[in-house]
Amino acid sequence: MPIEVKNISYIYMENTPYEKKALNNVSLTINEGEFVAIAGHTGSGKSTLMQHFNGLLNPTKGEVFIDGIDINKKKDKKTLNARRSVGMVFQYPEQQLFEESIFADIAFGPRNFGCSEDEVKQRVKEAMDFVELDYEEYKDKSPFLLSGGQMRRVAIAGIIALKPKYLVLDEPTAGLDPRLKQNLLQKVKKLHQKEKMTIIMVSHNMDDIALLADKVAIMRQGKLMIYGEPREVFTHKDVIEQAGLLEPEVMQLLRKIKEYGLDVDINALNKQEA
Ligand code: ADP
Repeated sequence: MPIEVKNISYIYMENTPYEKKALNNVSLTINEGEFVAIAGHTGSGKSTLMQHFNGLLNPTKGEVFIDGIDINKKKDKKTLNARRSVGMVFQYPEQQLFEESIFADIAFGPRNFGCSEDEVKQRVKEAMDFVELDYEEYKDKSPFLLSGGQMRRVAIAGIIALKPKYLVLDEPTAGLDPRLKQNLLQKVKKLHQKEKMTIIMVSHNMDDIALLADKVAIMRQGKLMIYGEPREVFTHKDVIEQAGLLEPEVMQLLRKIKEYGLDVDINALNKQEA
């Protein structure tokens, strides 16, 4: 079953002098098991869109369905469970750590979801294993004594411990050094491939997108400009440039080869690579 966004528009501070249309008639479907990347310039509406995936924002117009349930219609248990099936990692998630110990921080969500203490412990252990933080060594430590990269891992573990079916990440690698960045992207890839989580990831980096995503959505001024498989989307150089993004390096290289007169069929090469 999918997440379906149907013709949503969102206006911040409607009917005030500061009114701002942040989403303009956006529709897209994210199928179970897909890895979808959302790209676009700062202010294009990516964060606003992602906050619609779990009902944090209610669309001014349009509907959002999770597994067939309209998540903004009723406030019943079904709706709550549908919203809870979407885990959300915000930008700089380490800024949201607040408990005294790493254990308590990761346990906060599962406890809130009503898991038993045994289940909570099991989930915290698994989540810490996943982000490679040794349970015995770290469980009682304060999250605030960790390095930036470790704090981010604790924050992500807190969402993984909720076992979401859909995982939404807003630029999860922002501010990390290249090594930590690659490590985190590998973990996200593992969640997708091994745990079969559906991933929705906001990213500026088209090379990461080309490597990881099944589909890419390009946003510009609140509109969804294009949505499809990377190899198809990346051939629309004009859309990528207008959105203020850089083409993936591999595409740039192929174009250069072509410019210098070598006869390369970019589409055919892309297909071979896939
Ligand atoms: P992105 O994530 O692509 O950077 P956002 O979704 O954050 O874009 O923002 C889309 C537009 O909505 C921008 O013009 C931004 O200034 C505006 N906006 C975002 N959040 C708010 C808010 N809380 N109040 C008013 N305007 C906002």
